[in-house]
Amino acid sequence: MRYWLSIVVATPAHSSVAGPLTYRSEWPLTPGSLVRVPLGKREVLGVVWEVLPDSGDLPESQSKAVLGALDGLAPLSATWRRLVAFTASYYQRSIGEVALAALPPQLRELSTVQLARRLKRPVAAASDTPDTPDTPDTTDLIALSAEQERAIAEFDADTRPALLFGATGSGKTEVYLRAAAKVLANDPSAQVLVMVPEINLTPQLQARFEERFAHLGKAQVVALHSGLTPAQRLKSWLDAHAGQARLVLGTRMAIFASLPNLRLIVVDEEHDPSYKQQEGARYSARDLAVYRAMIESSPDNAAESVDARPESEGKPAGICRVLLGSATPSLESWQATVVGRYQRLTMSERIGGAEQQGSLPAVRLVDMNHQPKHCTIAPPLLAAIAQRIARGEQSLIFLNRRGYAPVLACHDCGWKSECPHCSAFRVFHKIDRTLRCHHCGFTERVPRACPACGNIDIAPVGKGTERLEEHIAELLAGVTRPDGSPLRIARIDADTTRLKGALESQLASVHAREVDVLVGTQMIAKGHDFRHITLVAAINPDGALFSSDFRAPERLFGLLMQAAGRAGRDADHGEASEMWVQTFHPQHPLFAALKKHDYPAFAAQELKEREAAGMSPFGFSALVRAEARDQAVAQGFLNAAAAAAQAQQLPGAEAVTPYPAVPMTIQRVANIERAQMLVESPSRAALQRFLAAWQPLLHQTRQQGEFKSLVRWAIDVDPLAI
Ligand code: ADP
Ligand code: ZN
Ligand code: ZN
Repeated sequence: MRYWLSIVVATPAHSSVAGPLTYRSEWPLTPGSLVRVPLGKREVLGVVWEVLPDSGDLPESQSKAVLGALDGLAPLSATWRRLVAFTASYYQRSIGEVALAALPPQLRELSTVQLARRLKRPVAAASDTPDTPDTPDTTDLIALSAEQERAIAEFDADTRPALLFGATGSGKTEVYLRAAAKVLANDPSAQVLVMVPEINLTPQLQARFEERFAHLGKAQVVALHSGLTPAQRLKSWLDAHAGQARLVLGTRMAIFASLPNLRLIVVDEEHDPSYKQQEGARYSARDLAVYRAMIESSPDNAAESVDARPESEGKPAGICRVLLGSATPSLESWQATVVGRYQRLTMSERIGGAEQQGSLPAVRLVDMNHQPKHCTIAPPLLAAIAQRIARGEQSLIFLNRRGYAPVLACHDCGWKSECPHCSAFRVFHKIDRTLRCHHCGFTERVPRACPACGNIDIAPVGKGTERLEEHIAELLAGVTRPDGSPLRIARIDADTTRLKGALESQLASVHAREVDVLVGTQMIAKGHDFRHITLVAAINPDGALFSSDFRAPERLFGLLMQAAGRAGRDADHGEASEMWVQTFHPQHPLFAALKKHDYPAFAAQELKEREAAGMSPFGFSALVRAEARDQAVAQGFLNAAAAAAQAQQLPGAEAVTPYPAVPMTIQRVANIERAQMLVESPSRAALQRFLAAWQPLLHQTRQQGEFKSLVRWAIDVDPLAI
């Protein structure tokens, strides 16, 4: 017998072979099977996508044969393939690229023999030592708060995607744990996927899940993220694929895990930008979670999967829920609850806090118009920090700019530390006396004198976290801890946490109260459960109020609410904790909502503006980015492709507005000029139709002689920043 198959392989995004390729096989293979096939001179991993009725008119001499199948593995499910196909089509990439990127990298490299060996190991281990430790199931040991009880009951009574809108410290994690526990207990083969933004920043969450589900046995709770070694990642993936792992905890990539009996997807901190992939297929794992839950539940899919899929035999029909959680949801998810597409579950009180709002920190706005000129830390804020130190409490101060100073300048001739390769300044890092470009990485020793005029008096302008740390040490020079010992200041940012384990040890010293004042970037404002911090201060958040990026206020509000949530998490301190915000615009409505910890008020205001402007979630957009040595080429390419679309009246075009190409905010990085074109539509479907039809035109335009020097181009659907 001879079988004809369409197989997807990892094709470069812009090659001409974007679609599935046809191969022949001597033995039957079901869709979803992993195979090794020849591609050019190489042998690569492929996924059987479809079984073709026959060879069509392809002569045998022109088709290549499948070299081998990874037959120790069950085929990838129809739902998994549907998720991949949807992702490829929605984000305008090839199926092969998405499918292969979704598989663990090591799987691509293993030969069938090597894989067979890999597969034996975990199976043998599992049967040798029955993996049921004697740890008791502790699920019910904690009494739920009334709000938690209600959230869970409401969740159980609905089938829509759910948004758990819970204040920081209201006990969202416990709700996730209970929801997961229930699903796992009701169905012995059910699987749960829990997604978190950045696993390194949330070691506590992972520990809580591992502890809570310890009774399932270690092999049943696995992690899936880029911090794992390739071998660990493959093992987690295989365990999930085999149905052996019941609970998968992972970052955005985990949305593509093969989970044959997925029944619940939790997306913690659903508003977090790190759920959006920023290269290749620029998917939103949050949005895909909602889509995946839908197709995992859909009866069509059950029908689709009945044929020839041995692993699905006897699979109980069930639904898959999705539970998104945040204290400051994305406005997209919030709006979905406003119109009833998603269910909203609300928990507004902190666990252990007083019943009244007193347990959330008081927000103090410092009007910087009335403070001494050029002061970095206003005197009343400084006094408040000193008071905390005297009481043995901790303060957290954040500033979104690392390094010592954002610019080094000569006051004689006006020279500034520009990066020669980027349209950006190089940042002064005092610790090793370097000027570093945060965009291209170009680093040089700080010059002794002004490179332009020779003046030796070149000076830092502005402050980054490194200088803020130094500055605070000076300001608090005489202050001591209650026992008279010297005050301790620590800094946490991308520079101080570069080494493996550095972040963990720094966090540990904060938890151990060895630190009085913690300075850092937004890295410290996220997720950590600090018990003894009673004061949080944002030094200079104004930039986001007037940013050209329409999502900047949403991000700022979220960040400030998150940061406020760091303060007073210990009920002992609840009453006295404070969030300080230094601003030149204390009247801004964003701050009024912040003062009341009123996310719904902020959301209502912001959504009104977005609706008037036709922006997300009321309108839909995509960005096409182009890079070239020459800005004119990058822009010219985009404008020419848009003109071609106009001339051909593409489907959807009547409802789509392409704007003229413009340089990106940071126009040049590493000597490459960058341009972008915004494409908007009030209709998601029209935008999708238009983009799909436009792709081939973009490819054609690139072939034109004048755009040969284009370095690359890419489409970003539902971009986060514009
Ligand atoms: P969130 O994720 O909403 O910010 P957490 O889930 O971290 O809040 O909960 C805050 C704290 O309250 C954690 O220390 C958690 O262990 C504790 N907690 C949660 N639910 C309960 C409960 N029902 N009883 C006692 N403590 C709880
Ligand atoms: Zn000079
Ligand atoms: Zn640079």
